[in-house]
Amino acid sequence: MKRVEVLVAGGGIGGLAAAYTQARAGRGVRLLERAEEFGEVGAGLQLGPNATRVLAGWGLLDEVVATGVLPRRLVFRDAVSAEELTHLDLGGEFQRRYHGPYVVAHRSDLHRILLRACEREGVELVKGVSVERVETAGSGARAFCADGSVHEGDVVLGADGLQSRLRAKIVTDSPVESGFVAHRGTFPAGGVDINPDEVVAWLGPDCHLVQYPLRQGEMLNQVAVFRGPGDLDAAFERCCDQVQAALSHLWRDRHWNMLDRAPATSWVDGRLALVGDAAHPMLQYLAQGACQALEDAQVLAEQSVKHAGSWDDALAGYQEIRVPRTARVQATARIWGDIWHVDGLGRTMRNELMRTRDLSSHKYTDWLYGV
Ligand code: FAD
Repeated sequence: MKRVEVLVAGGGIGGLAAAYTQARAGRGVRLLERAEEFGEVGAGLQLGPNATRVLAGWGLLDEVVATGVLPRRLVFRDAVSAEELTHLDLGGEFQRRYHGPYVVAHRSDLHRILLRACEREGVELVKGVSVERVETAGSGARAFCADGSVHEGDVVLGADGLQSRLRAKIVTDSPVESGFVAHRGTFPAGGVDINPDEVVAWLGPDCHLVQYPLRQGEMLNQVAVFRGPGDLDAAFERCCDQVQAALSHLWRDRHWNMLDRAPATSWVDGRLALVGDAAHPMLQYLAQGACQALEDAQVLAEQSVKHAGSWDDALAGYQEIRVPRTARVQATARIWGDIWHVDGLGRTMRNELMRTRDLSSHKYTDWLYGV
C-alpha cells in the first residue's frame, strides 16, 4: 500500500471530520473503517454554535441546516409536574453572541455530508478494514489491520470511538458505566403534541426524556434515559402524561448503555493521536460529543498548518489546546447528568434554581459555546 501523509482509523463523524480537514489542508489522506458500509445510527444530533461555527468555516453548514431544523428554544421541564423550569432562547441574539446557530440534524445526514465532502477532497475511503494496532517510529507510523494489510503514514489519527483499541497504546483505562440506559426513536411528525420549534429536556427522578424535530420538522427525535437495569415504562411511571405518551414512539429492540471515560492527560504517542470519542468520550447531557469531535478536527488542521513540516509540534499543539477544553466538557456532562436526575429535596432545589435563573445571563453557556 502506498504511504500517505495522514491515516485515519474510524469513519464516524470524528474520523470523517478529521480526514476532511486534513485533505482540505492539502494532505493525502486514507481513512480505514471497520464496518462494511459507512453509516450512522438513524437518530438525531444537537449541534451547538461551537460546532456550527466550525461547519460554517468548512463550507458545510448550509447543507446541514437544509436537512435539519433551527429550533427557537431549548426548554427544560420537570418530567413529573410538566412545569417549564427555564429555557434558552436560540434566536437572533444567541446566534450573534455565539457566531452560529443551534441546529438539530439527523446523524445520518451529517455523516453523509461529511462523507461526500471527503470524497470531493480526494480522501481514500476504505471500508471493511479493522485497525488492530499502530506502531509509531521516528517520522511515521504503521497501522496493522485484521485482514493482514499494513498501512503507512506520517501520522495516524485514532478515531475509533469510545471502545477505541488505539487509545490503549496511550492511556490505561476502561469505559466507565454510568448505570444509565438510553432508548432512542425517530418517527414521522404529526399526531404528537410537541412544539416543532423546541428542543425539550424533561428532567425526572433517575430518568429524562429529550425531544426535538428533525428534517425540517417532518420527523421527531426522542431519547429516553433511565437508571438501569430495568423496564423503560416502569422507570418513567411517575412522569406526566406527555412524557408517558412519548414512550410508545421509542425503539424497543435496541438500547445504549451510557458510558464515558475519565479525562486523559495525553492523546498523543509519537505519530499516533486520538480524536473524537477515542480521545474524550463523554456522557451526552451537554449534547457535545460530536461537537467536540468537530472542534478536534478544526484545531488539528490549524495546528498542522501552523507547524507545517513538524507533525511533532502540530500534535503537541493540538493536545495542549484540546485536552483541557474537552476535560471540562466531560466533567461538566457528568455533573449535569446528576442534576437532571435528582429527586426529593434535590429536585425541589434544582427546580427553584432553574425557575429563578436570570434569563439574560450567559454564565452557563459562554464557556461552552463562546469563541
Ligand atoms: P464513533 O461514532 O463511535 O465512530 C467510530 C468509528 O470507528 C465507527 O464507524 C466504527 O465502526 C469505527 N471503528 C471502530 N473500531 C475500529 C477499528 N479498530 N478500525 C477501524 N474502524 C473502527 N453528540 C453531540 O454533539 N450532540 C448530541 O446531541 C449527541 N447526542 C447523543 C445522544 C446519545 C444517546 C449518545 C450515546 C451520544 C450522543 N452524542 C451527541 C455523542 C456523539 O454521538 C459521539 O460523541 C460521536 O458520534 C462520536 O463520533 P466518533 O467518530 O468519535 O466515534
